[in-house]
Amino acid sequence: MTQQAVILLGPPGAGKGTQARMLAAILGYPQISTGDILREAVRNETALGLEARRYMNSGALVPDSLVDAIVKERLGRSDCAAGFLLDGYPRTIPQAGCLEGLFARDAERPFAVGIHIPDGVLVNRLSGRLTCPSCGKMFHALSSPSKAGYRCDQCGAALVTRKDDSVEVIEERLRVYHRETEPLVGFYRERGRYFEIDGDRPVEVINEAILQIIRTQGQNQGTTR
Ligand code: AMP
Repeated sequence: MTQQAVILLGPPGAGKGTQARMLAAILGYPQISTGDILREAVRNETALGLEARRYMNSGALVPDSLVDAIVKERLGRSDCAAGFLLDGYPRTIPQAGCLEGLFARDAERPFAVGIHIPDGVLVNRLSGRLTCPSCGKMFHALSSPSKAGYRCDQCGAALVTRKDDSVEVIEERLRVYHRETEPLVGFYRERGRYFEIDGDRPVEVINEAILQIIRTQGQNQGTTR
């Protein structure tokens, strides 16, 4: 069976994390979020966390060498054997090159689902975002508040605003996205492995659209999903 490598590509606030979590539950593939892995390292004050924090707090990207090493290690684990969902990686052309190098056969190489959404929508979404630090569920103070107030309605933990969800840092993250990450659209398009969807729609509609792409690709690749 071929391993199915799926990249969720899109600007911060596009819904990559939400979609990856939903897809992981349906497909049984692990969600691999470099942002979540880095935030955990920051919380635990590991050497990686102390190094990464400087970049993350200002909205900059963490150096490629650090995230490449995280992903290489993570993809080697047994739960990735059938497939995996990359959420927030790759974010630069060199990272995409590193990822390509991990797959020997063209049929196994990752394909990208681009979630397209205008910057104005993103600033509004990110500036009201509340995250559960325990289970990762995401809320929005206005458009999708937790049923339990400022606690997670799934696991009960107190919700937090991410340090990098302040307006100035959001604007920097969007600039970084357009400069460093958007060129990946061309990278995967040239290789015939790019599929774009409209991200300014209800979460369930987007989820269905992504699932359809993954299943069609799976049939082409000979995976069982
Ligand atoms: P995210 O949760 O994906 O928005 O990531 C939060 C922050 O972690 C980013 O703003 C970056 O500072 C860092 N980060 C996450 N993934 C990567 C990556 N693939 N390359 C570089 N930095 C990353």
